Amino acid sequence: MEDFQFYSDQTTEGKIVASLERISQAFRVLLWKKSKEFSLTPLQVQILIFLFTQNEEKKKVSYLAKEFNVTKATISDTVKTLEQKHLVVKDNEATDSKEIYSPIAELSWGDKKNVLSSLIKLIIHLNKTGVISVLRMCTTCSYYRPSDDEKKGHCTLLKRDLDHVHIRVDCREHKMLDFPTTV
Ligand code: SF4
Repeated sequence: MEDFQFYSDQTTEGKIVASLERISQAFRVLLWKKSKEFSLTPLQVQILIFLFTQNEEKKKVSYLAKEFNVTKATISDTVKTLEQKHLVVKDNEATDSKEIYSPIAELSWGDKKNVLSSLIKLIIHLNKTGVISVLRMCTTCSYYRPSDDEKKGHCTLLKRDLDHVHIRVDCREHKMLDFPTTV
């Protein structure tokens, strides 16, 4: 029988990666629970959530295919199945995410700022390296103007200053920029 060896990365970097994996596992579990409840595939649930939360111009087959890294045919089939099921998206996603939201809410203001800032940098890197294909955050938005001191940006659409904690990571008004700016 083949032997397997497991290595535990106890560096700070390794523990951050492991922590992010555990959080993503929590999302997968919640998604799976919802899938079973309504006899849907995880992709069907993700698409329902997306359609429910995004604005009209993003509710297109090509946009959805890019968003979920699948072919247009897969999106068409999935949407067709949802239509056949006469599905209505119920307003209960927020309840499910509370289990993840609550401990984050208990973090100190400084910790929240650091976590958010670090996650934004990670997401930008994942986008640049092609792991995440769609970003709807301020730093990739044509309405975003970074400031000279790099501490505060400005949204020309909402006419509002945006420091690190006010930067949006999934904005409905987002308009894609050719070259993302840095936070
Ligand atoms: S429109 Fe949204 S994403 Fe774009 S800069 Fe304003 S707040 Fe940020």
